[in-house]
Amino acid sequence: MTQEKTPAELLQDQLCYQKENQWQHVDEAFEAKVMEFNRSYANALNTGKTEREFYAMSVKRLEEHGFKDLSTLESVKAGDKVYSSVHDKGLVAAVVGTEPASKGYVIVGSHIDSPRLDLKPNALYEKDEMAFFKTHYYGGIKKYQWLSTQLALHGVVITKEGKKIEVSIGEDEEDPVFTIPDLLPHLGRKQMANKASEIVEAEAMNILLGSKPINDEKIKEPIKLAILKLLHDKYGINERDLYTAELEMVPAHKARDVGFDRSFIGAYGQDDRVCAWTSLEAILDAKPQAKTQVILFSDKEEVGSAGNTGAKSELYYFALYELQQKMLGREATLMERHDLIRNSKMLSSDVAAGFDPDFADVYEPMNAAHMNYGIAFCKYTGGGGKGGTSDANAEYFNEITRLFDSQDIPWQSCELGKTDAGGGGTIAQFFANSGMNVIDCGVAVLAMHSCFEVCSKLDIYNTYRAYKTFFELG
Ligand code: MN
Ligand code: MN
Repeated sequence: MTQEKTPAELLQDQLCYQKENQWQHVDEAFEAKVMEFNRSYANALNTGKTEREFYAMSVKRLEEHGFKDLSTLESVKAGDKVYSSVHDKGLVAAVVGTEPASKGYVIVGSHIDSPRLDLKPNALYEKDEMAFFKTHYYGGIKKYQWLSTQLALHGVVITKEGKKIEVSIGEDEEDPVFTIPDLLPHLGRKQMANKASEIVEAEAMNILLGSKPINDEKIKEPIKLAILKLLHDKYGINERDLYTAELEMVPAHKARDVGFDRSFIGAYGQDDRVCAWTSLEAILDAKPQAKTQVILFSDKEEVGSAGNTGAKSELYYFALYELQQKMLGREATLMERHDLIRNSKMLSSDVAAGFDPDFADVYEPMNAAHMNYGIAFCKYTGGGGKGGTSDANAEYFNEITRLFDSQDIPWQSCELGKTDAGGGGTIAQFFANSGMNVIDCGVAVLAMHSCFEVCSKLDIYNTYRAYKTFFELG
């Protein structure tokens, strides 16, 4: 027998806002879609482990869906699909709408770089009859997490003749992998007494490469020379070429289902390729609308978004303006460009810190993102007293949440953690500085910036639905 609700319970239903685990609303057909979407996502993570690789994979997917390089086109019209490269590490792609650009675009912007170990320019050396690469860490990492784990080498080397060589070693089952051996616990008494940030010094983050010398006693560093010979035989490169190369060490493992129920996905680089991938799939699947739909992938977010491929680069704006000009068939006026920015709406799609009960004391539970609760909004990020952030306007935050409510897209609101616990930022502030409306929203992640970040498959699929809704109705 079902009991009728009391007047107070009805009042509670009417007035209180309840967030909850969304699995309870999932039927079999929906779950099948969630799992299928995540299989293609896992493939994308395995294919695009660096910003360059993720860029190249995305362009390939866009071209397969009829997107053309905007720089090759004189003009564009409604329904056209285009993309612009930002030095092959950043990307702006768009589906042209029927409205003029000055009415504003709907933009989902994410970043495709992730924390990693870069090789130093002068990296290769031999010591005590072993060869190593010196590294320089990129982004906010806990250094100790990168010890005694399997690493793969990715990147580009340009030869003295100007030939670009793409390197990927450690992904194939047949490939060797690399590692930074940690100290054995038996001799770790002093190491273990250190602060976690000093368990290993950056200068000790050296990658083990080999131990087989070229046998000639006239050679002072015969193991180093043997490694150079292997690199030359395989890629035609020499030590000089390594100086100018961009080589990155990333975890060699593949994306895997996590948990008995496979409700999580674990992988390297989900911050922020989970938001990039969901926005890419959303723009491919969304129906073209009046407003021009845009995805934007930036680089260098993990080191402050500076540089010619970071979100602060003006090239992202030039791409938006080039599109406007080619929609108009003439140069846009200053006011038309101004209106484009003022009327554009952006979701800064970046990950949120998922609440972890084992570290509950750094979160503020009332304002934490919870796994499986849906896409997570951060009205603002920053540190301390909202330092270094943009704070989305109430009107805009409300508009987007109403839009998601209208399509039954589950959403939650969060801060990174306790106000005094630390802080962080996203690309939102840089685009908000231009004057457009921007709010952060993305997928909650456990173990962010580790070698094996964990996301909820359901949140990933619901985030894809959220971005698609934004493109179609935003
Ligand atoms: Mn991020
Ligand atoms: Mn990050």
